[in-house]
Amino acid sequence: APAVTATRVTRVYGTGDAAVHALRGVDVAFARGAFTAIMGPSGSGKSTLLHCLAGLDALDGGGVRIGDVELAGLGDRRLTLLRRERIGFVFQAFNLLPTLTAEQNIRLPLDLAGRRPDPAWFARVVDVLGLRDRLAHRPAELSGGQQQRVACARALVTRPDVVFADEPTGNLDSRAGAEVLGFLRASVRDMGQTIVMVTHDPVAAAHADRAVFLRDGRIVGDLHRPTPELVL
Ligand code: ADP
Ligand code: ADP
Repeated sequence: APAVTATRVTRVYGTGDAAVHALRGVDVAFARGAFTAIMGPSGSGKSTLLHCLAGLDALDGGGVRIGDVELAGLGDRRLTLLRRERIGFVFQAFNLLPTLTAEQNIRLPLDLAGRRPDPAWFARVVDVLGLRDRLAHRPAELSGGQQQRVACARALVTRPDVVFADEPTGNLDSRAGAEVLGFLRASVRDMGQTIVMVTHDPVAAAHADRAVFLRDGRIVGDLHRPTPELVL
């Protein structure tokens, strides 16, 4: 089975005249080991799709499978466990805990799962993301770009099968952005991870193997081997 499969996914916010049809029947599958960019104008449903795929938002129709597991068939507890064990999520707004240091934020998913960090992997994540000398800082003491990298490290530290990343380079300068993308690319290559990344940036999308385009809650394009010229 693909790593992630969405079948006729619909999501409607509000009711009656105020209803917003954020997703209008999205069918898409993400192969294991693929790095996919989700693109499209603001309001086209990219973040909603990512949240629905990751089991963070309810569906109003259709279904999502992670591997062979149908999310709708899981109770809250099993959904939480599946998210913990198999999914990493990089939030657009970082969602770092303000009272914890960078290191404690990065370790949080391991602590919640009762797992010990793999020291070599932890060091690699921290070094590649340039966080070695920031580990003792709290989020308020970090720049936006540093907070972004802490959020990426936190999503990768458990070595999840699937990583969903919402604008992971949105707050980074082009050099730091390229490093984060190179790291995501390398973790796909070395660990067979599956990455689904929302981005506005054609240069970021060109790091991916595939670009899927949304408009008004529908898929309107699907391109393999995107280049910056093709996705502009
Ligand atoms: P994108 O990520 O492409 O900018 P979103 O998925 O954030 O798009 O939003 C898609 C549509 O759904 C937009 O019209 C947005 O205003 C609406 N929307 C998203 N989240 C909510 C919510 N929690 N409540 C109401 N409307 C929402
Ligand atoms: P690209 O695939 O975009 O050419 P590279 O593979 O050259 O990118 O790597 C870009 C970034 O990823 C660099 O910062 C490098 O340190 C990091 N990187 C490369 N390979 C690995 C790896 N096996 N584990 C962790 N980080 C890696």
